Amino acid sequence: MIAKGSVVSLNYTLKNDSGEVIDESSGGEPFAYIHGSGQIVPGLESALDGAKLGDKKDVVVSPEEGYGEINDELKFKVERSNFPSDKELEPGLQFMAEMKDGRQVPFIIEKVEGEEVHINGNHPLAGQTLHFSVEVTEVRDATKEELEHGHVHGTGGHHH
Ligand code: ZN
Repeated sequence: MIAKGSVVSLNYTLKNDSGEVIDESSGGEPFAYIHGSGQIVPGLESALDGAKLGDKKDVVVSPEEGYGEINDELKFKVERSNFPSDKELEPGLQFMAEMKDGRQVPFIIEKVEGEEVHINGNHPLAGQTLHFSVEVTEVRDATKEELEHGHVHGTGGHHH
């Protein structure tokens, strides 16, 4: 049974409210994570608690239990001069920005208007209801080394 400290492998498909596939574990390797350590969105993690090998589940995750609501404070305009002048700025371009508290947050450029650049630091899936279809393909205990590293080793995880 899946419990805190289990290594769980999943085949999954993630759709948005309109039924479009946003993400999926593609044919080859399933996705693997350590249960109870916040590596997947909270709503999916709690739905998988106590699940068993071979279980298939459809899980609907609200924005609060997913990637959060859209935070308007993470959307703002900055001067073009904040970017390297030789850099071509276009919508969709991602970059890291340092916040006042020193954290590095990924931002995306939404729009360039003359000298003003509109940027957005929300997760691309913020504000969205997530529809997961998952199948549990492996459940095992995490090794001591995996718990120390905080990630899964081998299939579906890190190779090093
Ligand atoms: Zn490692």
